[in-house]
Amino acid sequence: MLAQRLAGQPATRAQDIACELTDAAGPRLAGSKGDALARAWALEKMKAIGLTNVREEPVTVPHWERGPISVEIVSPSQPLVAAALGGSISTPPGGITAPVLRVTSIEALVALSDDQVRGKIVYFDKPMQRVRDGFASYGQTVDVRGKGAIAAAKKGAVASLIRSVGTSNARFPHTGSMRYQEDVPKIPAAALAIPDADILTRLFARGQTPSVKLVLEATQHPDATSGNILGEVKGRTKPDEIVLIGAHLDSWDLGPGGVDDAAGVGVVLEVARLFLAEPPARTVRVVLFANEENGLKGARAYAVAHAAELPKHHVAFEVDGGAGEAWQLLWTAGEGADAAMAPLAKKLAPLGVEAVLRNDDAGGADLIPLEAAGVPRLGLKQDARRYFDLHHTADDTCDKIDPAEIAQLTAAAWQSVRHVANLPERLPAAPLPKPE
Ligand SMILES: [Zn+2]
Repeated sequence: MLAQRLAGQPATRAQDIACELTDAAGPRLAGSKGDALARAWALEKMKAIGLTNVREEPVTVPHWERGPISVEIVSPSQPLVAAALGGSISTPPGGITAPVLRVTSIEALVALSDDQVRGKIVYFDKPMQRVRDGFASYGQTVDVRGKGAIAAAKKGAVASLIRSVGTSNARFPHTGSMRYQEDVPKIPAAALAIPDADILTRLFARGQTPSVKLVLEATQHPDATSGNILGEVKGRTKPDEIVLIGAHLDSWDLGPGGVDDAAGVGVVLEVARLFLAEPPARTVRVVLFANEENGLKGARAYAVAHAAELPKHHVAFEVDGGAGEAWQLLWTAGEGADAAMAPLAKKLAPLGVEAVLRNDDAGGADLIPLEAAGVPRLGLKQDARRYFDLHHTADDTCDKIDPAEIAQLTAAAWQSVRHVANLPERLPAAPLPKPE
């Protein structure tokens, strides 16, 4: 089926490029050795493809480094598979041993009295659903990873454990960023692999209250210098107007980030290569962003460094949803853009993209800093039923990419970007974000 839909579309090497990056750099969290290797690879790769203006722009990034972790149910003694959340502090040298308090959400925790929480390890048992619109499900679940430690510490908890925000029943815990708050004590935070979270959940279902011993080491190094990597295909007739196509070069540290986001890097570099053979009216600028995962510092640095040029950004597009098939195209632009965008539905339908929809939140996380400048944005919604098995885990390797799916994704990206890059008129500026 998918192969038929790809008939007549250009051949793609997106998966090969993703594997080249992950083989060259491995895990590449901001500030790590892999981060530097990835930037060196990207500069070489862009030059080899034939992009112009290939350059690195410096970005100051946080540099967090994971150490060993052990999580153990004290009685009956049993080890659990877990990973520190990115940014977590260490436990004291002897670890933390405390009774576990199970809650199913931050709201449920907030409803408890401080006396019920004080001195406990809070266990956030909030499962994520496996659905095609995976980011919707992720968005409903991931608050316990980002803010759980703050909510738990406010009530006097000594550590925070979460059920991994993911969908795999393999013993691969999902890491990801977590935050602390100035005026709230910092407590260590980790994610249990889903089968290990299930162990705790079953003990609670039987009326038991397990105690857990958590020993976690991590180091917050001084900030480091990383960089965004840029390269261009010069526009034929409107070279000073820019169509940004992006992905993020960094990954979490547990694995080499094959689908998150080497796949996106492969797709945008392939789209750029296709444009070299047939340059569009406007300049296509590939941006491989630094530090998407634990800071968004690359995207912020881009918006600052290019502030004067943002009014010349016609559209920005990012691929950061794995390697799954595209099934919708979302776009954000001002009133009056519908007529210009409508013909794209016909170009994408043969690929199996079901709809082209106006949406105020189009695009990936790296496009957020462009919102304040009203830059119109595009994003493909991808089938995420397998993505969250791999996302932020040690199992995220490039062999998991389905060659036909990434070929469809690349074709959909190319058709979409080609359409907007060649529009006769500028797209009207996107509505500005509402103040929080
Ligand atoms: Zn990503």
